[in-house]
Amino acid sequence: MPETKVKKDEDFNEWYNEIVELAELCDKRYPIKGMNVWRPYGWSIMQNIDNLIREEMSRTGHLEVYFPLLIPESLFKKEEEHIEGFSSEVFWVTHAGENPLEEKWLLRPTSETAMYPIFSLWIRSHSDLPLKTFQIVNTFRYETKQTRAFIRVREIHFFEAHTCHKDFEDAEKQIKEDLEIAERFFQKLSLPYILNKRPEWDKFAGAYYTISIDVMMPSGRTLQLGSIHQYRDNFARPYNIIYEDINGDHKYCHQTTYGMSERILGAIIGIHGDNRGIILPPAVAPIQIVIIPIIFKGKEEIVENKCKKIKEILDKIGLRTLIDSRDITPGSKYYDWELKGVPLRLEIGPKDVENKQVTAVRRDNFEKIQVKENEIKEIIPEILGLISKNLFDKAKKLLDNNIKKFENIEDAKNKTGIIQLPWCGREDCALKMEEELDVKTLGTPFMEEQCNLNCPICGEKAKNWVRLAKTY
Ligand code: ZN
Repeated sequence: MPETKVKKDEDFNEWYNEIVELAELCDKRYPIKGMNVWRPYGWSIMQNIDNLIREEMSRTGHLEVYFPLLIPESLFKKEEEHIEGFSSEVFWVTHAGENPLEEKWLLRPTSETAMYPIFSLWIRSHSDLPLKTFQIVNTFRYETKQTRAFIRVREIHFFEAHTCHKDFEDAEKQIKEDLEIAERFFQKLSLPYILNKRPEWDKFAGAYYTISIDVMMPSGRTLQLGSIHQYRDNFARPYNIIYEDINGDHKYCHQTTYGMSERILGAIIGIHGDNRGIILPPAVAPIQIVIIPIIFKGKEEIVENKCKKIKEILDKIGLRTLIDSRDITPGSKYYDWELKGVPLRLEIGPKDVENKQVTAVRRDNFEKIQVKENEIKEIIPEILGLISKNLFDKAKKLLDNNIKKFENIEDAKNKTGIIQLPWCGREDCALKMEEELDVKTLGTPFMEEQCNLNCPICGEKAKNWVRLAKTY
């Protein structure tokens, strides 16, 4: 079987670069670095990911909005910490035709400063709350580091939910709901993750606190797929988002956001893929089942008819299927669809027709399964479920094997993956750990774990564990 030139376990980053091109997910030849072209197949997967997000949003009563791409400088500048966090990354629009603009505009790096002045007009009374909105749009950040398809780009396909609440407690309930959304959503993508409360010095600009959703990539680096922010009233004050409560008093709203990006696709490619190509979780595969007719002279028609019949059965139960009737060898077809990560392949030849069965081949482990025609409706969805589960279990093993606890710096040196150390809670101690181990602070485990040891830097009693890793 043909395999990639670069092997995944030999040079993960090169393998990743090769696979996104071979599987025709994006085209990196667009002449602005970090702004890639989504090819139809890649875009189709991303749309399926977006649809899963939309399902979750609809289930939890979030309404979809679409705000303009351009933000006037004056609005952007209202929240001080926020500007500081983003000012080095924004693209500015300074001219309209030949004429300099009276006020500069920027391309949204995220949409707080576009949305919140309008929220302040929409929200009048407690009956307008909670306000739960989201949008799926492109955002722009000027990356100076090396770009990488879906993982580090300058035009980012982005999901952002923004909510307003009557008080801190109600906003906290939203955070809880966000965590439940993440659990359901990432389960469907077979992506196990860890939650980290980001350190004070590296939380989202303007947030009260930030929780990051991080996954483990096979390179030993973590990839942040999403973040959930509690803003308290930090944005409501400068943007004047005020409501009248039941007693007629005027109060500032409390706000939260939840962001995720096309990095999710990067994680799916990197974590599930192998040397034959990408492997898609059935939930987002544009084609979940590809049917390959195995043609022998004189038996063409009965095989083709059988393929159509099987496709009809599968279409009826809502599965996304395709019959590959191209005039090339079955072997070439296997190669193409393995590269593109189609979770299940059905081979149908004269023998299968005779025996009233199909031969199913799993993409995740290449197991061959004979399925009786009259059991297809039940068995095929079951196999797809097993594929999702197997992908999840493998990814979970990768994650678990890469979380390593140490008591002192010496032992933690030259280790890959996520390093957990006892921590007193002081910034300078964490920064010292970063420096000694050449890693970044992910934060403290969101579900706090007791730690009775001492901080290996200052020797004081640890408050918590801190997680550090090399990151993308
Ligand atoms: Zn310390």
